[in-house]
Amino acid sequence: MDALRPPGSAADSPGWRARVVPNRFPALPGMHEVIIHSPEHDVELEDLGDAGLAEVLDLWRRRIAAQLAAGAAATTLIVNRGREAGASLEHPHAQLVGTPAITPLLLDELLEFDRFANRHGGCVLCVEMESAGVRAVQDGPVRAWVPAAPRFPGELWLAPEDHAADFREADVTPVARALRRALVATRVATAGAPLNLWLHTAPADLRGGFHWHIEMAPRLTGIAGFELGAEIALVSLDPEDAARALREALPED
Ligand SMILES: [Zn+2]
Ligand SMILES: [Zn+2]
Repeated sequence: MDALRPPGSAADSPGWRARVVPNRFPALPGMHEVIIHSPEHDVELEDLGDAGLAEVLDLWRRRIAAQLAAGAAATTLIVNRGREAGASLEHPHAQLVGTPAITPLLLDELLEFDRFANRHGGCVLCVEMESAGVRAVQDGPVRAWVPAAPRFPGELWLAPEDHAADFREADVTPVARALRRALVATRVATAGAPLNLWLHTAPADLRGGFHWHIEMAPRLTGIAGFELGAEIALVSLDPEDAARALREALPED
């Protein structure tokens, strides 16, 4: 389908660095792709280096654009790491699912952007990022912070400092650096716990405001009855303590 490979080499031949294949067991009929980020069996995103990761992010961006152009209402890109996080393939990969309607979580977020804009004006995520204070983990053109009301202990969000709705137009170079450092910090701070990561970007038909972001959820604890019965997350790790631990676990560069 699509791949990163040396110029002049043939499709589906060896030599690829990252490649896209259709999911054999699609979650939904239609668009469900597996984006394999390395031919090596045990190379995670943060092991690719900034340039390698930027190439993979560029591939993510291209596939999101292709699915939206082919008629998806929205796309969800996910990375499941570890069997407890739902990974069914051993080989490190991302999955991109284009859906015929906007997914419930993205719809909730879009409504929250609208509610905030109507009530206070401006972008709720820009405000959340700027008011992170001691919950800030990384500065720079792509920031990382622990949300005020996390659903998972050690949950971390990444978003561009300059307001931008659409990941298709992102500058992937600073995203790669920030994501690599955040992944290393999370791996260290959680002792390699299973992890879910997802990318929320603007749907095909964006009517109001949005700000693209990556959410990272280490799975240190299971989901218990109260979470399922009340849809209220109980997180015993204080967000400020979580942010401090992540800051201390950031790599030098
Ligand atoms: Zn914003
Ligand atoms: Zn989101």
